[in-house]
Amino acid sequence: MRLILLGPPGAGKGTQAKMLKEKFGIPQISTGDILRKAVDQGTELGKQAKAVMDDGQLVPDEIVIELIKERIKDEDCSQGFILDGFPRTIVQAEKLSETLEEMGLAIDHVIDFEVNHQELIEWLTGRRSCSNCGAMFHGETRPPKKAGICDVCGHELYQRPDDNKETIIKRLEVYEKETAPLKEFYRKQGNLKSIAGRGSVEEIFSQVCSLVS
Ligand code: ADP
Repeated sequence: MRLILLGPPGAGKGTQAKMLKEKFGIPQISTGDILRKAVDQGTELGKQAKAVMDDGQLVPDEIVIELIKERIKDEDCSQGFILDGFPRTIVQAEKLSETLEEMGLAIDHVIDFEVNHQELIEWLTGRRSCSNCGAMFHGETRPPKKAGICDVCGHELYQRPDDNKETIIKRLEVYEKETAPLKEFYRKQGNLKSIAGRGSVEEIFSQVCSLVS
C-alpha cells in the first residue's frame, strides 16, 4: 500500500505515519526527518537545507525529488510506503507520479488532514520533540511527566528551530500557497480522502485505518 499524508505543519501527519508504519509494516518516509538528519550530520545536503528550513521556506524541488526517487527504490519499500511531508508542491507531485509510473506503481490513497490554523499555531509554539524517539509533547496541553524529559524513552526534549511563532506563520503561508493546491491535484485523480484532524490521536487513527482498508 502506497500512501501520501497531506496537511499543514503540525496537523499530526508524522504521528499517524508512525502508527500506520507499525500496523501495516511499511516504512514512513518523512522528507523533514531526512533533511533534519542531514542538518545534524552536517552533510552537504544539510548545509544546503538548513537556512531554508530555519526560515520556514521549502527546500528546492530538485533536491527532495532526488531524495524520494532514491528512497522509494529501497528494498523495504517493495510492499509500499507512507509519504509524510512529500510531495509539497505540484512539481513534486508530478515528478512522483512520473517516477511511480516508470516503476509500474501508483499511489493508493492520499489522506488530507484538515486542522484550522489557530489550533496549529497554539500546538506548534508549545511543541517539544524527543531528540531520540520523536515523541511529541506540549508545555500546556500535553506536558511530559518530568519537565524536559520524554515519557516514552527518557531522552531530552528539544524545541525545533522552526517552531517559533514567526516561522510557523510563514510555514502555514507556504503551505497554503504551495501545498494546498495538491488537494485539487489528487481530487482530480480520484484518490483524495479528507479527515478533520480533531479528536484524540487514536480516534483519528481509526478514521485513517477505515479509509485505507
Ligand atoms: P512540518 O510539516 O511541521 O513543517 P517537516 O518536518 O515536514 O515539518 O518539514 C520541515 C521543513 O523541511 C520544511 O519547512 C521545509 O523547509 C523542509 N521540507 C520537508 N519536506 C519538504 C519537501 N517535500 N519539499 C521542500 N521542503 C521540504
